[in-house]
Amino acid sequence: LEVPSNPTIGYIEGDGIGPDISKTSISVINASLEFAYGGDRSIEWEKVLAGEEALSKTGKHLPQESLDQLKKCVVSIKGPLTTPIGQGFRSLNVTLRQYFDLYANIRPVKYFPGVPSPVKNPEKMNMVIFRENTEDLYMGIEFKYDSPEASKMREFLASNMDVKLTDDTGIGIKPISKFKSSRLVRKAIQYAIKNKRRNVTLVHKGNIMKYTEGAFKEWGYQVAANEFKDNTVTEEEYLKDPDNYRGKIVLKDRIADNMFQQVLTRTEDYDVIATTNLNGDYLSDALSAQVGGLGLAPGGNVGDAYAIFEAVHGTAPKYAGMDVANPTSLILSGVMMLRHLEWDNAADVLENAIIATYHDQKVTQDLARVMNIKPLKCSEFGQEIIKRMKPVK
Ligand code: NAD
Repeated sequence: LEVPSNPTIGYIEGDGIGPDISKTSISVINASLEFAYGGDRSIEWEKVLAGEEALSKTGKHLPQESLDQLKKCVVSIKGPLTTPIGQGFRSLNVTLRQYFDLYANIRPVKYFPGVPSPVKNPEKMNMVIFRENTEDLYMGIEFKYDSPEASKMREFLASNMDVKLTDDTGIGIKPISKFKSSRLVRKAIQYAIKNKRRNVTLVHKGNIMKYTEGAFKEWGYQVAANEFKDNTVTEEEYLKDPDNYRGKIVLKDRIADNMFQQVLTRTEDYDVIATTNLNGDYLSDALSAQVGGLGLAPGGNVGDAYAIFEAVHGTAPKYAGMDVANPTSLILSGVMMLRHLEWDNAADVLENAIIATYHDQKVTQDLARVMNIKPLKCSEFGQEIIKRMKPVK
């Protein structure tokens, strides 16, 4: 990625708590840049309208001008957007992912000491999930039970597959392609190599769904064998002769239901995870709960040409405009964004300052309630982070 010293970065404030957490996030990101590079690198922030603010100003939730602006920016960052309720409305997030072909949803799950967690050894949790973002059941190809299409499909299934479905059965379709599975696994392996991770696990439900989930697994192994032969080894090969494969990334696969218990019982065995859309959705939220919940979990939607980093939680409307929400999810998405720009020095300054803030038990209301301590406002939490910025050697 070619990054100028003063790139234009788009930001969507978001609805509900969006404006509060965006303001705090931008101020701590700017402070980390100033701290790391003393004015030699900075961000030109460009506000992009979307969601309720866009609707009131332009009559559309996601006007074409906003899409054009995002296209011009090197990368972008966004707060949560309300999904308008009503027939035929696709979520704005899904629209953005599809428009910019942001095929990998990347969700790091890492524990910060001091944060309350429901598990015994949360510090063992340090995984990065790569969830396929553009196909699977989320394409929304569904047929209502009483539609003529559903009826035709039931007839087809009865005569060709000897499957008899009653006429109160709705039908959904799960497309999984070689091209989209391969590029997702490729990105996960590239990440593992670049970040010196130990293993990549393909999570699938191929024992039941052979030609979709099972194919995902097969294609994943093929990508490793054909494109990353020098850097990877299958778990099977590795276990036969571990000494021979030291330093290589071990590629393994797990069936999704088993994986949900493995990540709790054998946490330290898992590192980078590559999976299909639905599995990834469940797994990433379940894992983020282990390390402090959605208020802390960052995410990035990344394709080959574009990237949008985002808070993974929703708009928490009951806290809108009160300056009480936890901005950590969006700030950590900012850390991911800085790493994507290869501005690692600023990313380290910011991440270390967040760790120090949690270590000192400075927290917002969501966690203060559980810890039974006094909460900080969203903006005060940002100030505490800035106070703890230190040079990185
Ligand atoms: P939500 O994430 O907004 O809220 C779930 C719970 O977590 C609530 O109790 C909320 O108060 C709390 N919470 C969430 N983020 C928090 C934060 N940063 N600090 C403190 N507490 C926080 O989910 P929801 O209630 O299901 O959805 C509300 C709206 O957000 C809906 O319109 C939904 O469509 C939208 N949504 C958007 C996104 C997105 O833009 N990526 C994601 C999920 C939901």
